[in-house]
Amino acid sequence: MQNKIWLSSPHLSGKELSYINDAFEKNWVTSIGENIDGFEQDLKECLSNHHEIVSLNSATSAIHLALVMLNVTKNDEVLTSTFSFVASANPITYCGATPIFIDSEKETWNMCPIALEESIQDRISKGRKPKAIIVVHLYGMPAKMEEINEIATKYEIPVIEDAAEALGSTYKNQACGTFGRFGILSFNGNKIITTSGGGALVCHNQEDKNKAVFLSTQARDNAPHYQHSHIGYNYRMSNIVAGIGRGQMEVLPNRVEARRKMHEFYVELFRNINGVEVFSEPTSDYYSNHWLSAIIIDPKTTGKNREELRLAFLDDNIESRPLWKPMHLQPVFADAPYYGGKVAEELFDNGLCLPSGSNLSDYDRERIATVIKNFFS
Ligand SMILES: *Cc1c(COP(=O)(O)O)cnc(C)c1O
Repeated sequence: MQNKIWLSSPHLSGKELSYINDAFEKNWVTSIGENIDGFEQDLKECLSNHHEIVSLNSATSAIHLALVMLNVTKNDEVLTSTFSFVASANPITYCGATPIFIDSEKETWNMCPIALEESIQDRISKGRKPKAIIVVHLYGMPAKMEEINEIATKYEIPVIEDAAEALGSTYKNQACGTFGRFGILSFNGNKIITTSGGGALVCHNQEDKNKAVFLSTQARDNAPHYQHSHIGYNYRMSNIVAGIGRGQMEVLPNRVEARRKMHEFYVELFRNINGVEVFSEPTSDYYSNHWLSAIIIDPKTTGKNREELRLAFLDDNIESRPLWKPMHLQPVFADAPYYGGKVAEELFDNGLCLPSGSNLSDYDRERIATVIKNFFS
């Protein structure tokens, strides 16, 4: 059996251990220390220099914390993209609130501004003005942030940007994660850089950061004993894990470049295969980190479907994966309201994510190309 080719696996720089060793030597084996401060500074410089970063134990915690900061509570409603990983929606339910799912548009596969505005007007007409909007940048592709922010401003609803997959992506030269009232990043093992598990909340000012740090470290009031007047959480990142993050931040530009090269590899590969479309930026306003490369297979033109291709890859020990199954089709969210048509459903039916790691070799690419050529010939 050939070696396994993964969809997206950790790709270390070799610098991580020196940051971890430093933490051990100084005995900062806790959730404060130089690695936390250094990692937050690295992220800040990477995003804009005008935002404050709070490193946390996951992006899921970061979304939950953002909702808490926006006072989302029992019986509130929060709008979010149906076409996403479940972690975009789960934290809404942690607050006792209801997720309302919005369809995608066809260009970026992200939240459709038209369906978004329809949903807001409809909820308002029912006396249920949404408390927040969670917008996702899927597979690294920036959402239509200008249109979405315009609608959000018009109806005065704060935006949380789930940029878990989009570190290094920009829209009109502005970093994903900096458009919303809060931004979210993930450093899970399969993301473009990893801390083995971790996330961050992107804040607009020091005041928000202070509040997020306070809430993520059990909400201790200023007193010599343990005194509490708010419900807190244990969501802060460890200083050991942040050391991995610092080692990874040294190579983020290389990782983005390598993922974008994988996307180009697929564009080239599918150039002469009719009925297959490689997911690409609609205009030069969009700059995707191409965290995952994805294709849409038209079954009518090709006579093939995405499940057959997935199995052909599997035969050669290569991992591929259907696109996200829309949240409004998930049993756990069967009762949640949904606005839009069938864009996300069709993407799910016909789409496949392909191996996209920055650590794939020329030999890996040869194996991938061989499977694809044989499959479509
Ligand atoms: C990975 C991911 C998350 C969750 O990240 P964790 O750090 O694993 O909690 C949230 N949203 C999206 C879109 C993701 O891809």
